[in-house]
Amino acid sequence: MLGFNREILGLQPSRSMTFMAKAKQLRAQDPEVVDLSGGEPDFDTPQKIRDELYRQVAAGYTHYTVGAGLPELRERIVKKLKEENGCDYPAEGIVVTPGGKFAIYLAVRTFVDAGDEVMYLEPAWVSYPSIIEASGGRPVPVRLSHSDNYRITLEQLEQHVTDRTKMLIINYPNNPTGRALSRVEADALEQFLLRHPGLMLLSDEVYERILYTGNENISMGSYASVASRVITMNGFSKSVAMTGWRVGYLATTPEIGAVMYKLFQHTITCVSGFIQKAATVALDCTEEIEEMRRRYERRRDMFVEGLNAIDGVHCALPQGAFYAWVRFDIPGMGSEAVCDYILKEAKVVGVPGVAYGTDDSCVRFSFATAEEDLERALIQIRAAMERVKK
Ligand code: GLU
Repeated sequence: MLGFNREILGLQPSRSMTFMAKAKQLRAQDPEVVDLSGGEPDFDTPQKIRDELYRQVAAGYTHYTVGAGLPELRERIVKKLKEENGCDYPAEGIVVTPGGKFAIYLAVRTFVDAGDEVMYLEPAWVSYPSIIEASGGRPVPVRLSHSDNYRITLEQLEQHVTDRTKMLIINYPNNPTGRALSRVEADALEQFLLRHPGLMLLSDEVYERILYTGNENISMGSYASVASRVITMNGFSKSVAMTGWRVGYLATTPEIGAVMYKLFQHTITCVSGFIQKAATVALDCTEEIEEMRRRYERRRDMFVEGLNAIDGVHCALPQGAFYAWVRFDIPGMGSEAVCDYILKEAKVVGVPGVAYGTDDSCVRFSFATAEEDLERALIQIRAAMERVKK
C-alpha cells in the first residue's frame, strides 16, 4: 500500500466534474442528449477580454508577475467591491487566484488546523466538504430545509458551533437552490459573527452578478461591525463566461492576505499576467454582463414555467444563479433514481440533489444552456413524466 496522505486519499470525486464528463461522453454517443449538468455559461467570453489577452501575449507579457495580484487589477477589484457591494477592502487585502475553487481552498487552508470544524449551509456546492477535508478540517453541514425555503436562522447556526469551529462558508446567490440572501438572514449572520468573535465567514459570491429582477445582492463584507472577519470570494467564470480562464479572487484584511500569501508563494507563484490583464478589462464589461444576465432571466422564466406546467414537477423560481432546483413526484425514487430515469427516458442530464448534501428531494438542472436545448429538454421531460403515470 502506497503511503498516501489520508485526507487526500479519502476525498470523494467532484460530482460536478463527474457529471460534466459523463454528459460529454453521452452526447458524443447520442446528439439528442441534452446536457444540463454543469454550471457552465454557453456564452463566449466577451470579445474585449479576448482581445486584451491576444494583445498582451503578442506584446510578450508572458513572464512571472510578483505579488498577490497585479496592482491595477487589485485596485480595480477594490473599486468594484466598494461601488457594487458596499465593501471597503484595501488593495493589500486582495489575492488573485487561479479560479474561485483555489481561492476557497486558500481561505480554508489558511485558517484550519487539523481537526478544526468548518460549518457550511446545505444544500451546498459539492466541493466545500472536500476542500475542508483536504485542509485537515471537519466539515459540519447546517441542513437548511426545503419546506422552509432554505431559510437561515440564528438558532440553527448556534446548534452547530463548538469550541473547534473556525469558519462558516456561505454562498449567495446559491448553487444549487437559486436562493438570494435576504436582509433578515444577513442580519442574523451578523449577529452570529458578533456572538462568536473567533469565527471567520467565507462568503462565496461567484453568482453575484446573476441576480434576477426584484432581487438585490447583500455582501456580508458590507457589514462594518464584522467586515474584518468576512472573506469575500468572487471570480469571473460565471459572471463573465470565463470558466476556462481560471481566475478568481479573495478580498480580506491585509493581515489575513499576508498569511494567505505565504501559501500562495509556495504553491502557485502567480496567476498568469496576461490573464490578470484580461480580467481587469472584464470588470469593465458591464453591458456584456448585463446582456448575459438578461438572457439567463428569459431562460429561467421559460424553463421554470415549462417545468411547472408538467404534472408531478415542481420548481421554485430561482432568485439568482442559473440553476433550476426541481422536485419530481415519482413514487419510490430518490434523486439519483430520478436522474437515471430522466436520463434514460428523457435523455436529459441533471445532477441528483444528494450530490449537494442529504436533501434527496430535488434534481439540479443548469439553464446556462441554449434556449432550443432547454425547449427540447422540456418536451422530453414531459413525455417521460407522462410515461411514469401509466
Ligand atoms: N460550479 C459548477 C457546478 O456546480 C461547475 C464547476 C465545479 O463544480 O467544479 O456545476
